[in-house]
Amino acid sequence: GGLWWVSDLRIYLDYNATAPLRDEAREAMIAAMDMVGNPSSVHAEGRKARGIIERAREQVAALVGGAQDQIVFGASATELLNQVVRSDWEHIFVGATEHAAVLEPLVSFGLAYTLLDVGADGVVDDASLNAKLDQLISEKGVDPAKVLVVVQAANNETGVLQPIDAIGRLVRDKGARILCDAVQVAGRLPIDVAAWGVDYLVVSSHKMGGPKGAAALWCGCRRNLRALIKGGGQEQGYRGGTENVTALAGFAAAAEVSKAALETAPSMRLRMDDFEAAVQRRSGSTVIIAQTARRLVNTTLLAHPALAAERLLMTLDLRGFAVSSGAACSSGKVARSHVLEAMGVDAALSGGAIRISIGPNTTADELAKFTDAWVSAVERAAPASNEIRDGAQPSRQVA
Ligand code: PLP
Repeated sequence: GGLWWVSDLRIYLDYNATAPLRDEAREAMIAAMDMVGNPSSVHAEGRKARGIIERAREQVAALVGGAQDQIVFGASATELLNQVVRSDWEHIFVGATEHAAVLEPLVSFGLAYTLLDVGADGVVDDASLNAKLDQLISEKGVDPAKVLVVVQAANNETGVLQPIDAIGRLVRDKGARILCDAVQVAGRLPIDVAAWGVDYLVVSSHKMGGPKGAAALWCGCRRNLRALIKGGGQEQGYRGGTENVTALAGFAAAAEVSKAALETAPSMRLRMDDFEAAVQRRSGSTVIIAQTARRLVNTTLLAHPALAAERLLMTLDLRGFAVSSGAACSSGKVARSHVLEAMGVDAALSGGAIRISIGPNTTADELAKFTDAWVSAVERAAPASNEIRDGAQPSRQVA
């Protein structure tokens, strides 16, 4: 293509990587920025800063359905997920499609763990989890209270939802503990730590319109929890270091607005369903990964065997689209997605996978523009394989 491909108009479809800052978060941060006090100081200035943090604790607790004194703040979901998996465990069971923030510390710090298989739909096999827990606890005599299971609420690449309440019940029945990475569901689905039956749950500020660099761990049981950072006793000793008051002020505002906006979140799925139907009507050879699985309201992973995602990303970027191939955190590295590999997706297909993740303000018109760009990319890459006509049968494939 010529220069007409280059566009100044930006269309941001990468909310799973990070969401734009909400106005309410910006205002709260600007107000907090000029506060001089250290939250640990006893004077009026310190107490004012402390007040901001305790308000943030209240808002984040309300978002997850927990109590205020069960919240530990940190600088990222990655930090807090590392903290839980590096706590006092004898063995950890972990879903094969978990985020690197869970998988990498297991490998790098030499922890004892077992991967849990997922089906072609990306869902953890609970019968296999059941058998593995029984084997470890009954046959090998491991103390169940020292066994951790880590399962995400939703996958960042595919949007696939895990049946977290059912898995929570199963794990609890065995007396083991469960950590839920809820980073991608916050503000998109109601979170209820009690109904889900989880012991630990992590959310991240920047995925729901708060600033980057703030996250929260909800902790129902502290017995096994260890600190990664020791210092002045902040966060009840579970996370040393002077708190980032400004970021927490923004996080609180984002959590409050995200919770209030939950009822409008399902409307994103309607826009995504229309978008998926339009893509498949115009390109019968495009596959939507895990299309029949329960998925996040805002996420679609498109794939085509004739496309090379890394190169297509650059073309789409020039045309004004911010989208992602696989995990944004690993951009630059052309490794195969471990998520799609675990689901048994063909390597050719996973190499041509592009994630579209929208926000509450994404319009049907923006998605229509992306549809045009996708269809023309497919036409250029595979003129023969692509039946571009109305009424073409969409190819439905679970994985
Ligand atoms: N877990 C999931 C599912 C994610 O998508 C991400 C973000 O990429 C993380 C954890 C890490 O979050 P943070 O950027 O706050 O470290």
